[in-house]
Amino acid sequence: MVDYQATKNYLANKTILVTGAGDGIGKAAARHYAKYGATVILLGKTVSKLEQVYDQIMDEGGEEPAIVPLDLLGASPQHYRDMASTIGDQFGQLDGLLHNASILGDLGPFAHISEKDWQQIMQVNVSSQFYMTQALLPILEKSPGASVIFTSSSVGLKGRAYWGAYAVSKFATQGMMEVLADEYENRNTRFNCINPGGTRTAMRAKAFPAEDANLLKIADDIMPLYLYLMDVQRSTENGQTLHAQPKT
Ligand code: NDP
Repeated sequence: MVDYQATKNYLANKTILVTGAGDGIGKAAARHYAKYGATVILLGKTVSKLEQVYDQIMDEGGEEPAIVPLDLLGASPQHYRDMASTIGDQFGQLDGLLHNASILGDLGPFAHISEKDWQQIMQVNVSSQFYMTQALLPILEKSPGASVIFTSSSVGLKGRAYWGAYAVSKFATQGMMEVLADEYENRNTRFNCINPGGTRTAMRAKAFPAEDANLLKIADDIMPLYLYLMDVQRSTENGQTLHAQPKT
């Protein structure tokens, strides 16, 4: 399905929320969903980045997106409930949710993970996804077919030395997706994970400062899988982890 070809406007009349939509993979996904007709809700921390994505989507002829500036580190469960109720009032239902935002923290020996790094990574990469998903479930269930995509990583499928809290957070993400997928089997909402594979973004550059970034795929290259999993007419997966790039 990595060579999946999306049909023109297949996301028309659908509303899709993308977290971390201001940069990297989230930005590419938001633009691609808009290109195929979705109204995209751009959620992220840095408002100027979200505004740039908004402008790009408008320039590319997409539906007008909505911007939700939210720092996942500081947001409370009430923030997510308020957000869900605003989305419900404005759009009636939510058809897609891409949990993409996350932070890497400092890589290094497990014995040296700081309390602050641990707590921040768990808050942004795990707890915020729990609060947000729980708050959004009622409006996801109003959709005749909703797709929720979580973002995993190779280090969240097999633990790797020095990837510390980030790796643990990706195992938790994987677990959250599997619990939801099992619970919602035979209902209208599907839950899956995408493992993007090495992709040329700010996070990748932080994790691998010495590598030649020109050898990596750019975020646009891995979009077929992101488009495929939002195509609930043609994709049937639930509870799966799919790889956006062939494993080398
Ligand atoms: P980037 O660091 O390039 O982008 C991360 C996005 O998340 C940014 O838009 C950032 O917003 C947002 N974000 C970070 N912290 C917060 C916060 N507290 N509140 C709201 N938004 C926040 O990462 P990538 O695009 O590389 O990664 C996207 C996903 O893919 C992540 O889940 C990552 O773990 C995963 N992944 C990436 C790989 C890669 O090679 N790039 C490989 C495997 C997995 P802002 O810019 O405003 O801080």
